[in-house]
Amino acid sequence: MACAACSKEPEDSQPHQLCARCKQVSYCSKTCQAGHWDAHKGSCKRPNYIIKFNLCPEAISDRLRAVIKDPVVSRTISCPATATFHRLHDALQVAFGWASTHTYDFNVLDPQFDTTQDEDDSQGALMRMIQQSMNGASASDSREYLLRVKDDTPDTGLVPRHIDKMHDSRRHHPRTKEKSGPSTKLYQVLDASEYRNERMVYTYDFGDRWEHLLTITGRAPATTKFHCIAGSGHGVAEDVVQDGWQVLIDAYRARRPNEEQHEKIHWYETRCSNGDPKGLGNGREHVFDKDGVNMRLSVMRT
Ligand SMILES: [Zn+2]
Ligand SMILES: [Zn+2]
Repeated sequence: MACAACSKEPEDSQPHQLCARCKQVSYCSKTCQAGHWDAHKGSCKRPNYIIKFNLCPEAISDRLRAVIKDPVVSRTISCPATATFHRLHDALQVAFGWASTHTYDFNVLDPQFDTTQDEDDSQGALMRMIQQSMNGASASDSREYLLRVKDDTPDTGLVPRHIDKMHDSRRHHPRTKEKSGPSTKLYQVLDASEYRNERMVYTYDFGDRWEHLLTITGRAPATTKFHCIAGSGHGVAEDVVQDGWQVLIDAYRARRPNEEQHEKIHWYETRCSNGDPKGLGNGREHVFDKDGVNMRLSVMRT
């Protein structure tokens, strides 16, 4: 690519530098870049991220109570790079059909985390859990997250968050960096070189721990709105616990549901906070209304 300012072609000995922000133009020198800024700044926009969010996938099964795979539940969303993580949370609530009755955080996973320390059946793990919920983790405990972008909006009391609060202290760690969801923009984390090769998850509901694994699959021209490009699987029920989703689907698939299965179906269609009155029978566990999601995303503030 020729220098956007002086049109000089790059040479092997003197490669050009891309504009770090938009990555759309390149320059032969800092002088050229500085001189061209007034002309370029109007069109210099950070491209959107195309991110695939996969709910409780096999890829992080070592950290999950249950994998969701029949069917897989995923959404691929084009995300404005200057949107905040709080707005991304809002978009994910719409895209996955969650009811926004719990809090969230976005986490960069520590690859060194000892996943066995979470096992409920060992005495040591139980003691550690009790100690951590009272005092928070200590620096010598295995660290789950390199970075945590969390919801620090004031508690309005509109949403019952006591369950999440109870689990919150366990998510703190003296060596985990914390950032504010409402004031951190996507590119500030997604473009940061220290996290580039690490896995990242969006955790919604600290009790049920719905983990959505993020995979950046590409970039796209900058927009101001979130847009859902693809998806699979019906949105999952709130407060069903991870393996409860499969249990519910199995109830719908049963040829002659037993009493317990009838109760689950009735609960889902009438009382569940994000239940579907049409249920999940006749293959509806695969139904995902992309147009409906995009209609709601298009009127959302970003
Ligand atoms: Zn130049
Ligand atoms: Zn630029």
